[in-house]
Amino acid sequence: MTTILDRFLKYVKIDTQSDPNTGLTPSTPNQFKFSENLVEELKAIGLSDASIDENGYVMATIPSNINAEIPVIGFIAHVDTSPDFSGRNVNPQVVEDYDGGDIVLNEEKNICLSPSEFPELNNYKGQTIITTDGTTLLGADDKAGVTEIVSAAEYLMNNPHIKHGDIRIGFTPDEEIGAGADYFDVKKFGASYAYTLDGGEIGELEYENFNAAGAKITVRGRMVHPGYAKNKMRNSIRIANQIITMLPRHETPEHTTGYEGFYHLMDFNGDVEKTEMSYIIRDFRADRFEDRKKELQHIVNKVNAEYGAGTVKLEINDQYYNMREKIEPVFQIVESAKLAMELVGVDPLVKPIRGGTDGSRLSYMGLPTPNIFAGGHNFHGRFEFVPLQSMEKAVEVILKIIDLSVQPQK
Ligand SMILES: [Zn+2]
Repeated sequence: MTTILDRFLKYVKIDTQSDPNTGLTPSTPNQFKFSENLVEELKAIGLSDASIDENGYVMATIPSNINAEIPVIGFIAHVDTSPDFSGRNVNPQVVEDYDGGDIVLNEEKNICLSPSEFPELNNYKGQTIITTDGTTLLGADDKAGVTEIVSAAEYLMNNPHIKHGDIRIGFTPDEEIGAGADYFDVKKFGASYAYTLDGGEIGELEYENFNAAGAKITVRGRMVHPGYAKNKMRNSIRIANQIITMLPRHETPEHTTGYEGFYHLMDFNGDVEKTEMSYIIRDFRADRFEDRKKELQHIVNKVNAEYGAGTVKLEINDQYYNMREKIEPVFQIVESAKLAMELVGVDPLVKPIRGGTDGSRLSYMGLPTPNIFAGGHNFHGRFEFVPLQSMEKAVEVILKIIDLSVQPQK
């Protein structure tokens, strides 16, 4: 039996960084190779139907060992790491019995993981912490999740006295470039519901995320020699700026938290003749999300009334929606994850995701999929770390969720 630590260390050393610019699925060939290895590993532990499709999606079954018909549960993690930070030659450091002090990641480059900057380290005194060597990310996002699912599967296959229904396992490519759900075959997966193991610190449980839209605003101006411009020039930059200031000044990412939504100006490009702006619009509540889109349209209409129809063009595209709407009808799947955590001694930390997950898209594709912790911290950078004990607890949570599913319903 491979230990959780060994398995994790083996996975993170394989570079599976995704790339938003290749247009391929998976976006990088290394993800496919890694996923092929996972299939071999799953087969070796007894999941005989483990397979990979042409897009790099791995699926496998832990076959039911009971007679009763119970809903099929899925567990999903992603194999890629973020394009934001190098994932090549990851050289993980294992700090045993962490003493609460600074962890030197890289002596030569003077890079330190310190509780003065990352006070959450204080929660893990005495535990085993896995860090980077300061030059790459770690890839606990989401190889911790992959490790936990494979380890739970291995445990069940080695302990056939533990009763369970059919359990489905899915490993996806390209989550970090927002494409993880693109070719996920929900029907083939065949689960009634699933959990992504892609959250952060121990206890995290998430079933709410933003409703999301992108808005493109194009302002047409009119260039005239500045010396002769009176009543003739129309400066598209100034008109664009007018639109920016008409939006609520404090409803921006840097002024909001928790359940508050925002408009975020991501990109601004312009000269007198033409200015283009890209916004993203985010809100948890569907009605407020619609109101935000209407408000932007209303502002554009006003500006067009002032400068002439067609001066400003607005295009809004919905990107994803709050999974809560799809989770609520099957809310017992959240309750049982919560209960599972409590039963293995983990305090559930329920919070809204100020972003999207593959689970939010899967939920709208017919597979309700809340997200539970994989255990890591400081994703997408050199300070990423994961406590081994958090990964062990995640395995216990998976096993407990499965166990609860065969208990008679109260
Ligand atoms: Zn992730």
